[in-house]
Amino acid sequence: MDLELAGKRVLVTGSTSGIGKAVATAYLKEGAVVYINGRSAERCQVIADELAAECDAAGRAKVAAADLSSAEQSDALISQLKSEGGVDILVNNTGIFEVKAFEDISDDEWMHYFNVNILSAVRLSRALLPEMLERDFGRIVNISSECAIKPLGQMVHYSVTKTALLSLSRALSELTKSKNVTINSVLPGPTWTEGVENYFDTLAEKEGKSTEELISNYFADHEPTSLLQRFVAVEEVAKATVYLTSNRAMNGQSLRVEGGIIRAL
Ligand code: NAD
Repeated sequence: MDLELAGKRVLVTGSTSGIGKAVATAYLKEGAVVYINGRSAERCQVIADELAAECDAAGRAKVAAADLSSAEQSDALISQLKSEGGVDILVNNTGIFEVKAFEDISDDEWMHYFNVNILSAVRLSRALLPEMLERDFGRIVNISSECAIKPLGQMVHYSVTKTALLSLSRALSELTKSKNVTINSVLPGPTWTEGVENYFDTLAEKEGKSTEELISNYFADHEPTSLLQRFVAVEEVAKATVYLTSNRAMNGQSLRVEGGIIRAL
């Protein structure tokens, strides 16, 4: 099936590891031009070179380094992208998560979570959406989480920001009526990444267990409703993301890629 993504210009935020890296890989395999983003330009270049070789994509894996918690760095990134031809597809993937007791989350930390998990997407969408509407082509995908609709007590701040992303996506999609521009969310369930490895180290410490024990019993103890009974693979989230951006009729949607954890129709 031709997903008609060849030559499209794609920015995947937070694409030096985990889900973002897999999404960048999937777009490169579809023939798109992909900007790799992370905080370190050196690391972005290493990953761009690695993916260009892996995907036979010489010249199509580009670097767009910026710390997206900073409005200034975000502005600089937007200027770079506009001067190099703009963006057809924006995947707002950057996100932070950590297990933390609700009573220990300070105002500063709440603001940091809002800044990285929501404002990063707001800033890029605000800058890039008007051009997408004018050009009459554009796709935005916000990588939310299954816990946007099944919030977690051990990560209240994270859950709140992921729910807000769903509202951001749907509200922005309301601005696309009759245009070939779509704005959707992807809700991954527990997906095996470096970020999740760190998450489990902290959770194991909090529960007084070894990380190995926690992981091997995780689905039985914590996610008994999962139909998958294993971690989602980053490639599975990437496939869903690419699929969403290949179809104009899918707009204002929240696509769950969580292995059936959420028992709902
Ligand atoms: P990860 O920690 O493995 O990777 C995060 C990426 O974001 C890295 O490339 C990192 O360099 C980048 N990043 C972090 N802060 C940044 C900043 N300020 N500016 C620019 N880049 C920054 O994370 P992951 O597990 O791949 O998660 C990716 C996204 O998927 C996040 O939004 C996360 O909330 C969401 N998600 C993950 C899971 C999961 O189980 N892994 C589940 C649901 C949702």
